Amino acid sequence: MDWEVYDLVFFYGFRPMKPLSSRALAISPSPTVAMDARYKELLLRGMPVLSLGAGEPDLSMPAAGIDAAIDALREGRTRYSHMAGLPDLRVALSRKFSEENHIAYAPEEILVTSGAKQAVFTALLALLDPGDEVVIPSPYWVTYPEAVRLIGGIPVIAQTRFENGFKLTPEELRKAITPKSKLLILNSPCNPTGAVYSRAELEALAAVIVEKDLYVLSDEIYEHILFGDTQVVSLAALSPAMRERTATVNGFSKAFAMQGLRLGYIGAPASWAKAMIATQSHAAHHPSTISQYAALGCLNASKEILPAIKPHYQKTRDYTLSRLKKIPGVAWNDPQGAFYVFLSVQALLPSRVGTRKIEGSLALAEYLLEKHNLATVPGIGFGCEGYLRLSFANALADLEKALDRLEQGLRALTPG
Ligand code: PMP
Ligand code: GLU
Repeated sequence: MDWEVYDLVFFYGFRPMKPLSSRALAISPSPTVAMDARYKELLLRGMPVLSLGAGEPDLSMPAAGIDAAIDALREGRTRYSHMAGLPDLRVALSRKFSEENHIAYAPEEILVTSGAKQAVFTALLALLDPGDEVVIPSPYWVTYPEAVRLIGGIPVIAQTRFENGFKLTPEELRKAITPKSKLLILNSPCNPTGAVYSRAELEALAAVIVEKDLYVLSDEIYEHILFGDTQVVSLAALSPAMRERTATVNGFSKAFAMQGLRLGYIGAPASWAKAMIATQSHAAHHPSTISQYAALGCLNASKEILPAIKPHYQKTRDYTLSRLKKIPGVAWNDPQGAFYVFLSVQALLPSRVGTRKIEGSLALAEYLLEKHNLATVPGIGFGCEGYLRLSFANALADLEKALDRLEQGLRALTPG
């Protein structure tokens, strides 16, 4: 180290600096993303790890999307797009919302974003003032409460019950509402529980939502990953009153397996959409133009692409459930959609393996990774201690080995 650098380290190392933002200091990295980073780092180091961790499709991105992206690159369509997204893509998404979800969002009411995660952030930024409360049913996708906190809002967690399939009831919603409540975040099909709300269940919630004058962020990103004869219903399609207060989030990371291309979108009533578009124009300008062409290619071929999705995940889901049935001490609700099982390990905790004490889900996930080379996500990240989230978006051969490891790992636990 030369003296100049040494002086600098010395100088800055000992001078008390002003703290970083209290909002940023109050949150931790996403546990799903952090577990994925650890898993991928271990893979790079040559470790024989397998993952039931982060939820990313094992299917490949459709050829129609790849061709559209390559054509756009070759033809030099690499300039800035409109701040809300390519006009053709917004028209195609407006048609998609109308045909698949029965929601009339005009192209001007649609914002294309860098992933659905960015859509959630932008919707919150455009809606919330500091101190506004947001009702979030638990178990929740890890990002919702942290995103609300980062923006200065207050997450109010509405605990749902295992016995009720982890679906929010009108009574549970009412209990969470205060005069400061502004928004409800609902996710169906749900990450991490796989719960899908029926029309009747949504109508019962909608009655409370309208009565209490709440906005809703309806995250429908898993809408095409459904099991048996389960159907999804979009909240905004229930009535004109729901359409006027609901922003519908979706994206290309799940059904179209384009997760690395980071493309999401959101439809919302005009004034909310306008505020989101202005927000994005400063925060990101727009998502990658090439990813937008890829998305357009996928949408144009969606009638050929989508029918293959369901049978693939139905197979990996059924296989996973058949294996879990052989493991003593675990319980779950059969997922109706998405590609996760939210596995109760409450009966196995606290426990020991040799001298190692395993108190909670975090310690259990650590143990499975260290001793059995298996990545899972601890339930605590989703607001529920005593659970592990397993993603079955995997090739069957990998799933078989991963579930062998899970079974060995859990069978090795002794009470205490
Ligand atoms: N919503 C839910 C419920 C999710 O599980 C995810 C996971 N990626 C997202 C939104 C964000 O997806 P992306 O940013 O990859 O579009
Ligand atoms: N949504 C996926 C998951 O829950 C990917 C990681 C993330 O964005 O949280 O695992």
